[in-house]
Amino acid sequence: MINGHINWLIKPLGYQPITKRCPSCEVKKLFLPAGTFRVNAQKKTLDVWNIYKCEKCDYTWNIDIHARINTNKLDPELHQRFLHNDLDEVRRYAYNYSLLKRNHAELGPTPPYEIQGPSPYALTDTEQVIITLDFEQAIPVRLINILTRKLCLSRGQVARLIDEGVLLDLSPSDLNRKFKQSMTLRMSLVRLYQLDPPFVESTSNVEVS
Ligand SMILES: [Zn+2]
Repeated sequence: MINGHINWLIKPLGYQPITKRCPSCEVKKLFLPAGTFRVNAQKKTLDVWNIYKCEKCDYTWNIDIHARINTNKLDPELHQRFLHNDLDEVRRYAYNYSLLKRNHAELGPTPPYEIQGPSPYALTDTEQVIITLDFEQAIPVRLINILTRKLCLSRGQVARLIDEGVLLDLSPSDLNRKFKQSMTLRMSLVRLYQLDPPFVESTSNVEVS
C-alpha cells in the first residue's frame, strides 16, 4: 500500500469576537480586542487585562487575564509582552476560551478561517492518504465544514464517503463534532476513484488550490 501524508492547518482570521450589551450603544454589540493590554502594578502585585472595544463606538471592556498576581509569579518575558502590547499575545488571549468563560464573556460568531495545506487530490500514485488536522487556535469548527471545503464536496457527499469506506476512522456522527485539537483521519484514494458515478475526476487533471 502506498501511503501519502498531508497536513491541514486551520487558522482563524482576525480575533474571536465576544458579544455584550454596550452601555453606550444601548444594544448588544460585538466586542473585539483593541490590541492593547492594561497592566496595573501595585507594590508586589499585578493586574493584567486584555482590552476589548465595541465594534461601533469604542466603548471598552476589560477581560481579566491576571488578578492580583504576585509579580514574581509572572514570567518576566510575558510581563514584557504585556507591557509592549505584543499582538501575538493579544491574539493568543483572544482565543483562550477558558479565560473568556471565566470572564463570563458570551462568544460572538466563530471568525472565518483558512485551511492551509494541499488537497488530497493533488497526490498521485497514492492509495491511501493520512490527513492530520492541526488547529492554530482552538476554534470550535465542525469537522463537516472543514471536509466540505477542503474536498470541494457537498455535506451529503462527504457523509457518503464514510459509508463507502473512502473516509476511514470516522463515524457519521463525528462529522458534526467540533474538534479543536489535532486529529488524524485516513482517506482511501483507491476507493474514491472507484466510486460510480465518480465524485471527483482522477488525479492528474484536478486543479489544486
Ligand atoms: Zn458601543
